[in-house]
Amino acid sequence: MNYQYTELDYAKNIYENGFQSKQHEPTELRLVATYMRRVLDYKPKKLREEMYRWCEDHISGYKKELYYKRIHSAINKACQKGSMLTNVESIAFFKYETDYINGLYIMDNTDEQKESEYSYECKKLLFTLLFKMKINKFITETKRTDSDFEYQGKYFKGGQKKYTELKKLAKLPDKIRIHEDIINTLWINGLVTPMFNGLIKLNFMEKLYEIENSHHDLDKTVVLQIKDYDRVGWYFDYYNQDEKILFCKECGKIFRKRSNRQEYCSNECFEERRRKYKAEKQREYRQSSGRGQLKKSESP
Ligand SMILES: [Zn+2]
Repeated sequence: MNYQYTELDYAKNIYENGFQSKQHEPTELRLVATYMRRVLDYKPKKLREEMYRWCEDHISGYKKELYYKRIHSAINKACQKGSMLTNVESIAFFKYETDYINGLYIMDNTDEQKESEYSYECKKLLFTLLFKMKINKFITETKRTDSDFEYQGKYFKGGQKKYTELKKLAKLPDKIRIHEDIINTLWINGLVTPMFNGLIKLNFMEKLYEIENSHHDLDKTVVLQIKDYDRVGWYFDYYNQDEKILFCKECGKIFRKRSNRQEYCSNECFEERRRKYKAEKQREYRQSSGRGQLKKSESP
């Protein structure tokens, strides 16, 4: 799970239980300080005292002289203007956005005009990139200090790792090659432009901003609320009526069915539902036998 999207929960967890990963200690220390400053509302003097106390309690082998600099830097960042912790509850997609993506005609070759065999996967990737721009917009605009600032993301940058993550997020089939099959096809169609070192310009985002600015009667019906930020591509499948994509009857998470009758995302959810069902049956049984006894005592 990407902690950036549930920063508030993540910070609270560290504050209560200590560091979650050795590798990210400086970030986590900053989150603790920000939590104390913004959520617990500690003023700078108290914040400093509490930070030292927290470190003593939560860091094994803690030595003030070793941590002094790190603590100081975390406190500084926590007190900066615009520092805050947000949870992104959900990301909404509007009808005009999904209409735009679904309405694209994607070709392998602009001379032949035949629809590409990767057309659907290309749209699924555009949908995922749009999601990324939307979530960045939400976070950037929540933290902005200038209220007129409007985020208009139109680039994606990454090395191999970032592209592998993107492919996973978009839920593209394993056999699909993200650069050769997808990015390249999108490029042929003018929807993205590769620049250099893994940087691509998202021309389709520019087109969407243009649509937003030039149409006054856009259909802003919310057609999807994305809540699971690890499984974005499945929402696109769901929207396009893929019958294998469902929401779990127990936890509400989106998942892909592995068999026809599967109704729960995991064994845990299935067991949980069965446990609740049993408890409910037992309660019913106790109630009805309770009533039986009452009747006996009522009768003369
Ligand atoms: Zn579930």
